[in-house]
Amino acid sequence: MKRREFLKIAGFTVFGSTFINPVSYINSKSITRSTSKMKLRFYPYTLELKHVFTVATASRRTTPVMMTEIEYEGVVGYGEASMPPYLGESHQTAADFLSKVDLSQFDDPFKTEEILAYIDSIAPGNPAAKASVDIALHDLIGKLIGQPWYKLYGLAPEKTPYTSFTIGIDKPDVVRQKVKEAEKFKILKVKLGLDNDKEMIETIRSVTDKPLRCDVNQGWKDKEYALRMIEWLATKNVELIEQPMPKEWIDEHAWLKERSPLPIIGDEAVQRLKDIRKAHGVYHGVNIKLMKCTGMREAYKSIMLARAFDMKVMIGCMTETSCAISAAAHISPLVDWADLDGAELISNDLFDGVKIIDGKVTLNNRPGIGIIKKQ
Ligand code: MG
Repeated sequence: MKRREFLKIAGFTVFGSTFINPVSYINSKSITRSTSKMKLRFYPYTLELKHVFTVATASRRTTPVMMTEIEYEGVVGYGEASMPPYLGESHQTAADFLSKVDLSQFDDPFKTEEILAYIDSIAPGNPAAKASVDIALHDLIGKLIGQPWYKLYGLAPEKTPYTSFTIGIDKPDVVRQKVKEAEKFKILKVKLGLDNDKEMIETIRSVTDKPLRCDVNQGWKDKEYALRMIEWLATKNVELIEQPMPKEWIDEHAWLKERSPLPIIGDEAVQRLKDIRKAHGVYHGVNIKLMKCTGMREAYKSIMLARAFDMKVMIGCMTETSCAISAAAHISPLVDWADLDGAELISNDLFDGVKIIDGKVTLNNRPGIGIIKKQ
């Protein structure tokens, strides 16, 4: 019997219906894809945010994620796809994509380049779903070798950066409360781009003088206004500006880069490895996220390419469990700035992993990406 046919029948048995509703299908228990050696499993999960999170483009209280596991000879590697709705992926799209993954054609998990090129070729897009396979594969490999990834990369664990903690757009009393809760963080990231930018900054400055990083999320629609705002922010102990204007505004960002007293970092404009070249001359630096660039392998390559262009590098995240955050943390000794607070923003983390201690990304010596699943 062909495997696909078997899965179909197994699905009928499990769900007792010949008409499987796609939503109940993905919300059911984990789905196992049998292979000769490597097994991929995945299941949906919903992250609960501690606060309603507002940026220039949207507001939300939860984030859908898809958790993955790759098992090989009794060893399990964990992965995760985080899918904030505005990026276009969902439980359904990730389940559709991962259902197409057939790892049985590979007899060796160490053939990472080959396996991940195959994953990327299955369908365009789906960067977070692809990252969930990449991360699980990296975790598996590290566990098979018995070493953490920072060592496999040849990096010094004490070189991890301090991470910023993100303050979403909100009313002054809520902003002040959030700043108080962020006490252990040495740097704050402030979301801007609505009509209360100065109020946000002045509210924060009324309670702390910590360095700030500002993320406009494409919110400013005029380059002259953007420059005036940045000149004002430069007097407020702000370190950098992320994605000030719409990602399509290439000439406007290049204009701004020439004049800005602060580094301009491309985030929404920079997704995959190939976008690094396009960002050169347009931004001072790039924000690399595993969920945009399909995981650890391409993130590492993207950092190397950005460095070859003398660009600054930030490593960022979505709201994620300690699984994906830990994966990014192993690469973080390579970057100038880290924004890896994703697991700190949620109340239902599934993993114990890399920690933020006194604001610093702190690696452990566990093999792989350094995580243990909570019971
Ligand atoms: Mg950003």
